Amino acid sequence: MKENIKKILNKKDFTRDDLIALMKIENKDEMDLLFKKAYEVKSQYVGRKVYYRGLIEISNVCIKNCKYCGIRKENKKVQRFSMNKDEILEAVKWIYDHNYASIALQSGERQDKEFVSFIEELVKEIKLLSKGEIGITLSLGEQSFETYKRWFDAGAHRYLLRIESTNQSLFKKLHPQDGYHKYEVRKRCLEYLRDTGYQVGTGVMIGFPGQTEEDLVDDIIFYKDMSIDMIGMGPYILHNDTPLGKEWKNLVVSEKKRVELGLKMIAITRIYLKDVNIAATTALQGLDPLGREKGLLAGANILMPTATLAEYKDKYLLYDNKPGIKDSVEKCQEEMDKKVLSVGDTIVYGAWGDSIHFKNKQN
Ligand code: SAH
Ligand code: SF4
Repeated sequence: MKENIKKILNKKDFTRDDLIALMKIENKDEMDLLFKKAYEVKSQYVGRKVYYRGLIEISNVCIKNCKYCGIRKENKKVQRFSMNKDEILEAVKWIYDHNYASIALQSGERQDKEFVSFIEELVKEIKLLSKGEIGITLSLGEQSFETYKRWFDAGAHRYLLRIESTNQSLFKKLHPQDGYHKYEVRKRCLEYLRDTGYQVGTGVMIGFPGQTEEDLVDDIIFYKDMSIDMIGMGPYILHNDTPLGKEWKNLVVSEKKRVELGLKMIAITRIYLKDVNIAATTALQGLDPLGREKGLLAGANILMPTATLAEYKDKYLLYDNKPGIKDSVEKCQEEMDKKVLSVGDTIVYGAWGDSIHFKNKQN
């Protein structure tokens, strides 16, 4: 078996079966070989460099009802908040002063006119405040082509919208069948984003009941087929007050297995897509205190330290036991710096760290 894995890792092109064999690795030595290879590919194509995106979770108000997510509309236990412009700009200023060079604004989904205009104005003000120096990533859900375009024209240039699962029957299982949570719409949004000119990020949740290694490999093939520039993905984590949190309480895949699958997803994505940006996400650390470091060693090159104001952090809970919600922004940065250095990567301050894949496509 080991010879077989070695042989696959030495190939230049990979078949779906090759990727499945890699995804099914369970033995520690083989897993180490896979991560080592992925780290080599990272070093070669994007360098041993890590870029920060200061993450601001600006609101937990959401019109959607994704069955896995803690801030879904129907969860009445959530105390809803929306940061006002000054609060957001304060968080942006902190990020700017600490020379992160990029922010990511994330929230529950809203499509109303006020929200669309609010974000448009906000993006313009952030650009002004930073004299155009801050790179802006948005992660604000499904929108119309016009909305995406308005936010792009205002100055945002990257967008994250996870497809969650490309297996459409799993997608249906994850979402209510009410006509508002459709796979085709989500996929079309990714196309809108690409056509608007954004660097496009997507990703999936990893290791929920019923999902197979084959499904995960198909997710990676989807990233390639869609020529995705950035990947943000992490393990599924239960949230008690959600339909799937209740249904899957006793069915959940072990934490160890979900972390392993999460790391294998990063590694195989790196080996297969090579020059994309890949984030080591908070959810990975949620299940393993060393999750982010391991993510970097498996090929990730982006970290998204939270810069949400302390008073709101404990209200943006997509899943249970989210790490770092009691930490100050300073503490988060300190911890994050230590993580990167412990791996031997370099933190690049003051540069956008755009997706090299996106740049290569332009040439
Ligand atoms: N509303 C926006 C952005 C916020 S949600 C959107 O849905 O795109 C951001 C991501 O959090 C989702 O894409 C989903 O992949 C992830 N998420 C939500 N609930 C989760 C859970 N229980 N476990 C792991 N990830 C979760
Ligand atoms: Fe809303 Fe996003 Fe959560 Fe879905 S995943 S309920 S859109 S915040």
